[in-house]
Amino acid sequence: MSSWTSHDVEYAKLLEELGGIARREGLVLNPDLERLDKVVGLMTENLVATGRRYCPCKQSHPLDPGADKVCPCPEWKDEIDSAGNCFCRLFYRQ
Ligand code: SF4
Repeated sequence: MSSWTSHDVEYAKLLEELGGIARREGLVLNPDLERLDKVVGLMTENLVATGRRYCPCKQSHPLDPGADKVCPCPEWKDEIDSAGNCFCRLFYRQ
């Protein structure tokens, strides 16, 4: 019998989705698995609550669906170009 929660299922789906976005763009997800887990875990909470991938690093508290950024944010490519990774340290240049 599985002890996976719905959060775990959404987390796994989101991780797969983010990995696909990274691959399509020639990027990688953060190899620091602790950081990756933190970001994806918090993003999963936002996804479960709202149905959208709100960025945990750029959100208001409480979340403001009208103003907060959905991942990937419009400026991610600029951030990766200049710093090698997006602000949230989710996507990295290879
Ligand atoms: S900073 Fe990174 S994790 Fe946050 S929305 Fe932009 S691309 Fe996604």
